Amino acid sequence: MLADIKSFTRDELIAPFKSWNLPGYRLDQVLKWLYEKRASSWAEMTNLPKALRDQLAQHYSLHALELVRKQGSRDTTQKFLWKLSDGAMIESVLIPANPALYGEASDRHTLCVSTQVGCAYGCKFCASGLEGWKRNLRVDEIVEQVLATERWAATESSGFRVLSSESTVGEQPETKNPKPETRLVNNLVIMGMGEPLANYDNLLKALRILNAPWGGGIGARKITISTSGLAPQIRKLAEEPLQFRLAISLHGATDETRNKIMPVNRRYPLAELTGACEEYQRKRERMITLEYILIAGVNDALRETKPLAALAHRLNAKVNLIPYNKVEDLQWVRPTEEVQEAFLAALEELGVTATLRREKGHDIDAACGQLRLKTERELAKKPE
Ligand code: SAH
Ligand code: SF4
Repeated sequence: MLADIKSFTRDELIAPFKSWNLPGYRLDQVLKWLYEKRASSWAEMTNLPKALRDQLAQHYSLHALELVRKQGSRDTTQKFLWKLSDGAMIESVLIPANPALYGEASDRHTLCVSTQVGCAYGCKFCASGLEGWKRNLRVDEIVEQVLATERWAATESSGFRVLSSESTVGEQPETKNPKPETRLVNNLVIMGMGEPLANYDNLLKALRILNAPWGGGIGARKITISTSGLAPQIRKLAEEPLQFRLAISLHGATDETRNKIMPVNRRYPLAELTGACEEYQRKRERMITLEYILIAGVNDALRETKPLAALAHRLNAKVNLIPYNKVEDLQWVRPTEEVQEAFLAALEELGVTATLRREKGHDIDAACGQLRLKTERELAKKPE
């Protein structure tokens, strides 16, 4: 199978384009078609000679994600279920204009991106891990989630305004930074299905492409990677030249609580995880976010706030409290609002910077993995 052109960086494409004796600006035209105009076929690239389009088609594939199902009403959070070329399904979630939880305040849009089909880490509360791990996403499949979402948003019925409809492809051969207003998605959270740091190389390459001025043009500081706690990869991430934001899915501030719900904690217990986070923090000088889902009777007792506050202070981290979203077939439930508010107040009392997601309509805001699970189960029930 040919590799998709969106899995290559500009530098990697220079040599093949040179070997075809093309003028230098051709590559930049192609990149504009891919990342500004979000072309999903070679035929759309009308200002390229037919011979070049044929040559490209012989050397690279150009896959677009296929939309299988979408949840969400106009102008609100949209959840997409995409089908990949091998039939596997993944989710992305588009969260509109929101004083961003993870980046700086923003009036634009955040996309929650998947990195694997399923997940091998098996956290007890999570839908993504319920049916195990199938495979890593390729670089182009990670990149395509942004482009396919924007392609959908550009359709009239979406209710979203995408500002780049009239681009200048072909008129300016030199590489030009995409105008900031050309992207609908300007914040990324790598919090969809899968454990991002278990697909490290593909994720990092996809993020380089989504960050590059010739590619997605999304600032590294607008990209948050969430991990369940793969300590060695956190240390590796600390060495990367790009300054991504880091969120840790903590969900328990003692080994005892974390062991109950997150098997990964047996491999990388808290001492090791926090050591890696301290290294990240030292090298990056970036604030880490600790994600803490509140699950009734599991980690929502007030006595848990003390070790949580100690950890937050040690890592100079802020804490995001997230009321648990019910997953079909799992017994866990979210605590009452009173319990949530009391937990938040106790943390603040201990001097921690904390937020509580007070969400409405959490059936659609629910974490990734649930729409896929539901659809796969429905498909399995249907007679052939
Ligand atoms: N594997 C990575 C990223 C994907 S999960 C990680 O675990 O960080 C993204 C976030 O959603 C994690 O913090 C995860 O713990 C959380 N999550 C999973 N299931 C959830 C649920 N049912 N309700 C609320 N948050 C959930
Ligand atoms: Fe995997 Fe993250 Fe879900 Fe845990 S919470 S099973 S690591 S996707």
